[in-house]
Amino acid sequence: MDEMQKIFECVRCGYCCIGKTTVSLDEEDQRRMVEALGLSEEEVRKKYWRVTGNIVQMKIVAGHCIFFNNGCTIYAGRPWRCGQWPMHPSLLTDENNFKTIKASCPGINQQISYEEFCRILQSIIDAQGTVLC
Ligand code: SF4
Ligand code: SF4
Repeated sequence: MDEMQKIFECVRCGYCCIGKTTVSLDEEDQRRMVEALGLSEEEVRKKYWRVTGNIVQMKIVAGHCIFFNNGCTIYAGRPWRCGQWPMHPSLLTDENNFKTIKASCPGINQQISYEEFCRILQSIIDAQGTVLC
């Protein structure tokens, strides 16, 4: 078991892909998604994105992200915020946030103490400089 598996292992329940909005995509996310889909940016924009002013998000279909279908169907081209979820750095400084995220994400070790969770997450960040789940 690696360090990440001690604190988190995605069970692909899809709860984080459900809702009325999705994360927003920065320019690098948009570029990666266009490349992953192998379409023109115009086609991707039309088919998959919801654009509100400068904010680009993925469309919601039937109450979930357009790319969710028993798991993420654009895994290699997913936005960085999806890749980071649920290991948001604020978890290290806000125990209430940890409790809220833990309650909504069954992939987080439900038995681990907050202190132990932070110790392991911090050691992963120190070793890798970032966290991708
Ligand atoms: S990150 Fe958590 S909420 Fe999202 S699919 Fe994995 S286990 Fe479910
Ligand atoms: S891009 Fe993938 S991980 Fe992100 S919300 Fe959509 S289906 Fe979920």
